[in-house]
Amino acid sequence: MVRVGVLALQGDFLEHVQILRELDGVEPVAVKRADDLSSVDALIIPGGESTTIGSLIVARGLADKIASLAESGTPIMGTCAGAVLLAKSVSDKTVGPTDQFTLKLMNIEVVRNAFGRQRESFIADVDIDEIGRVRAAFIRAPEIKNAWPPARITGFIDYPGMGRVGVSAKQDNMLALAFHPEITGEKKVYEYFLRLVKA
Ligand code: GLN
Repeated sequence: MVRVGVLALQGDFLEHVQILRELDGVEPVAVKRADDLSSVDALIIPGGESTTIGSLIVARGLADKIASLAESGTPIMGTCAGAVLLAKSVSDKTVGPTDQFTLKLMNIEVVRNAFGRQRESFIADVDIDEIGRVRAAFIRAPEIKNAWPPARITGFIDYPGMGRVGVSAKQDNMLALAFHPEITGEKKVYEYFLRLVKA
């Protein structure tokens, strides 16, 4: 059994748990406290509100533990707000620089809410290196504007008025996705993530 932790502080963690339940050989673990991280083989940081999830990570003393998981090669995937939380550098499309907490584990620069407000949500197909074409839901999604080694941008979409926009990135054992694979039920993404556990 592969134990996949899903950070369950705020946001749509239940959707991730539901998909994980449908995969063979996977036991989802809802992570609320540092102790819950002790036995996970992989970790998903879900979408939601990155400022809220960030504050709760700090309040519950989870940051160091997540950083040591990353350090030890445990696969970590951040989706939407989760991708924001993995980033070294964050700004907001309308308010500019933010001093919100992030884990700073991936060499990526993200711009929050890059595609506008909730009503500008959309679904698009994205070709992602090593994963293939996935159906992706973008809800107040960030843009992955820049990446530097060992991180690289692995998927782009063409968005009206913005041109070619980075929406996924990979750095060793870590994956940042600007969208929600759990909403479109994109199992391909999870199967890929689980292969990182075994790699
Ligand atoms: N806009 C949110 C943030 O930056 C992310 C939205 C989402 O996860 N769907 O925290």
